This record gives sequence, structure tokens and C-alpha cells, in this order.
Amino acid sequence: MIKLSGIAVLPEVLLKLEVVLARHAGFCSGVRKAVVTVLAASKEGTEVYTLGPLVHNEMVGQYLAEHGVYSVSSVEEATGPVLVIRTHGVAPAVLEKARSRGLKVIDCTCPRVRRVQELAAEAAATGARVVIFGDPSHPEVAGIAGWAGDGAAVVSSAGELDKLELQEPTVLLVQTTASKEDFAAIKALFLEKVPGGKVFDTLCPETGLKQDEAIAIAESVDTMVVVGSATSANTGTMVEICRRLKPTYRVAGAGDLKPHFFTGCRRVGVTAGASTPDWTIKEVVERMEKGD
Ligand code: SF4
Repeated sequence: MIKLSGIAVLPEVLLKLEVVLARHAGFCSGVRKAVVTVLAASKEGTEVYTLGPLVHNEMVGQYLAEHGVYSVSSVEEATGPVLVIRTHGVAPAVLEKARSRGLKVIDCTCPRVRRVQELAAEAAATGARVVIFGDPSHPEVAGIAGWAGDGAAVVSSAGELDKLELQEPTVLLVQTTASKEDFAAIKALFLEKVPGGKVFDTLCPETGLKQDEAIAIAESVDTMVVVGSATSANTGTMVEICRRLKPTYRVAGAGDLKPHFFTGCRRVGVTAGASTPDWTIKEVVERMEKGD
């Protein structure tokens, strides 16, 4: 973590505020690589389409659009010639559809997500049922489910897992950005239901690092600020984790900071989800330092 100090001007009192910034806040390696790849493709002079927003962050989306990179919500909407698959990956049927339409596919599926897809496909090929712990509406989970065969099930809570009738062979996988604590509870329940079941911990270590760091910082400060878009699932997970420990505010950018966040506060922690660009984190920290 990085310690900074600043002055927050509050309505009633001038308060010395110490800002503790998480070292691992912001873009993860997968997102950073995808953004670089897509910008390089756009320099070749053709329009580039991403299947869904490349990053769940409106400011990054705007920056990409200024560089000829546009988000579409279906393969059919991409008028060519380049379609980018984002870090979340997609089901095999989506890849086939894009290629059959003659689109050049740039596959930015994160290697860590690809590993989960491969595990799902291998399990399905051996006749095992695949259970995925994650958010069923998240594109990464939808993509993994597409590789996991017909009997695959997605559960987002212990209650949902408990209702499933399971028998061997069954394999449990987890969305890369799920909470470690929640997965530990799901894994215990899964093994209780299917003692011979196989569990693959497919949590992303970078996400774990961010979460551990956020917990360590939250324990040592009065208030946490998590920087990220309301549409970013991993930012939402960070908020939930921090909120278990300290009052926590989610801001999309410096403009969302409010003086009352820091009333009576001496130390404030700052972290950010994997889709938050460095420039937004910097603006938030600078605004807190300046206190205007
Ligand atoms: Fe890859 Fe992890 Fe980033 Fe997801 S959070 S894109 S799995 S590095």
C-alpha cells in the first residue's frame, strides 16, 4: 500500500486526512493486455468492434470510441471487419458464428478464463456434470457454461447449491472474480453433498491479491473508497468485502466524492476494481489530497 496525506475541507472542520492507496488498485494484467491489443488493432485504420464493452467502465469506453473501437451487443451488429472477444471469453458457438460471418476474430479471452473454459470442456467430455459458482448474468459465467456441456448448472449462493441434486462425477468451478470467502463456503457445501466431487479453484490470483490488500487496508483505516463503475462486477465485490469491515463508498470518479464521506475520518483507504483505469484513481486521490 502507498501512504499519502492530504487535507479534506469539510463544512465544519479542516481535517488532516491520510490517504492509503492500494498498490494493486486498478487494471489487472488481462484487462491491461486487452486494451493495448485493441488499441494496436485500431491503429491499422479499420473499425474495431468489441463484443460487449471491453472494460466495464464508461470512461474507458469513451476513450476507446475516440480511437475507433466500438462496442456491439451481438455478432450480427458487427459490420466488420474485426471483432474482439473481451477478457470474459465467450461460448464456442459465438466464436463459430463470428468466423462463419467472415469476421476476423481477435480473441482477448484472459488466459485465466481460458483455463476455466478448458476445465469445463474437459469435464463435460468425460461425462462429468459441471457446476459453476458465479453470477449467472455475468458474461464470463455464460461463456464458461457454453463450454461445460448440456447438464451444466450455475449457482450464485449456498441456497441454490443446496437445492441441486448432485451425484458423481461432478466438478465445481468458480467465476474468476468471485469472493474467496464465499467460494470457501460453497466448496465445503459441495464436498458435503458430493464427497467424491472434484473442485478446481479457478479464482484469479490477481483478484485475490486485490481483495486481501483491500481487507488489510480496510482494517487499518476509518473509511474506504472503492473506485469503479457501477457496471463493474469485481468493483462491486470489492465494495461488499470492504463494507463488511468499514463504511465504504463506491465512486465512479473524483466528481462522486462527497465531504460527508470523511466526517470524523483521519485515515481513508482507496482501492479500485480491475476495470478502473489509472487516470481515474489518480484523479480521485488528488481530489482527496487537495480536499476541494
Ligand atoms: Fe484475467 Fe484475473 Fe483480470 Fe479476470 S481479473 S481478466 S481472470 S487477470
